[in-house]
Amino acid sequence: MKIVLNKVRIINPAQNLDEQNDILIEDGIIRKIGNLNKEDLSNAKVFEFNGKICSPGLFDMHVHLREPGREDTETILTGSNAAASGGFTGIACMPNTKPAIDSAEVVNFIKSKSENHLVDVFPIGAVSKDRKGENLAPIAELVTAGAVAFSDDGVAVKTASLLRNALEYLKMYNLPIIEHCEDESLAGGAMNEGKVSTMLGLPAIPTIAEDLTVMRDIAVAEYVDGKVHIAHISSKNAVQLVREAKAKGLKITAEVTPHHFTLTDEALISYDSNYKMNPPLRTEEDVKAMIEGLKDGTIDCIASDHAPHSIEEKEAEFIYAPNGILGLETQLGLALNELVHKNHLSISQLIEKLSINPRKILNIPIPQISVGEKANLTIFDENEIWTVDIKKFKSKTKNSPFDKRLLTGKPIAVINNSKMHFDEKFTEI
Ligand SMILES: [Zn+2]
Ligand SMILES: [Zn+2]
Repeated sequence: MKIVLNKVRIINPAQNLDEQNDILIEDGIIRKIGNLNKEDLSNAKVFEFNGKICSPGLFDMHVHLREPGREDTETILTGSNAAASGGFTGIACMPNTKPAIDSAEVVNFIKSKSENHLVDVFPIGAVSKDRKGENLAPIAELVTAGAVAFSDDGVAVKTASLLRNALEYLKMYNLPIIEHCEDESLAGGAMNEGKVSTMLGLPAIPTIAEDLTVMRDIAVAEYVDGKVHIAHISSKNAVQLVREAKAKGLKITAEVTPHHFTLTDEALISYDSNYKMNPPLRTEEDVKAMIEGLKDGTIDCIASDHAPHSIEEKEAEFIYAPNGILGLETQLGLALNELVHKNHLSISQLIEKLSINPRKILNIPIPQISVGEKANLTIFDENEIWTVDIKKFKSKTKNSPFDKRLLTGKPIAVINNSKMHFDEKFTEI
């Protein structure tokens, strides 16, 4: 099938590209950019995009699909549908499933379940067997099966020695460990430790729980010349530690979630468990540090930490409710609203953080917007004003604190694997 994207503003910082043009796609391949003639247009389905932005497909490197194990809260299919609806053509999924992604069998299961979808799904292997922090998972087997990184997310890699062994092993494959930085002995609270937790009388997690693990990881990464990616960074001091590590030339990268650059622990005053996540929402000062880190390049990418939980679980008493919120379908809107429209990042910088850098960190090829290349594209409108409606989410669960929030900037369509998602529908192209 032939489609034409009429008048899109093509932006790809990886190609130094920012131009308005028309794109002809046939059988999923970019056939022509600009100067379309009558023949090009015959039998083509034409989409009038009137200056909307067309970037390389967005990529979310931190997603929790709940399959295998908790298919009642998300499946590989519903999570992939949520990703497409949120403007993403690729996601990497965390290994805290049941069973964990600690064998080739589970990697193969995820890959076979995600086959033929518009969204590419890249499994992240567990660092330790069953994420228990005792024995190293079979890393070579997992890499061969297709794992793109390793993590015990939910918890940090338990010991420095395990981290060291895993990093040394992974050097052979040039793959990173993605760290959930939280010192176990300081973990277990329900919110950030500070003025608000004292006021609410809730058990709290101090920022040093994060900072200490970031310090340990940087030290170990430096010692073995390994690659560590700090997941969902949230504390001001942790951002500074990453900044210093980068200045030293260490292989440290970092991501931040939209909730950590948008919300503060003041939101917890509502006792709404949709504001309960780990790491917890921090203070205004930390939020400012996240934005500073994004601006100066200390924080390489934005990732959602999409974490579906059932309504019943989230409605448990606050201290017992599980951590985490949905993220795939609000991520682009929040990033445009909070970062681009508040003049912290340019659109091009945002595309780097949502498409280019996550792929670089995981050694996944960056989609090129050139003739002859496979069309892997996201089209979004940075100016469309819309209200988040969780009832429309494609995710199986509805745990989002952003329901009813007014946002400026919205995904419009995604194209990948000879498929297009537009107007809530998938079509073969
Ligand atoms: Zn985590
Ligand atoms: Zn996570």
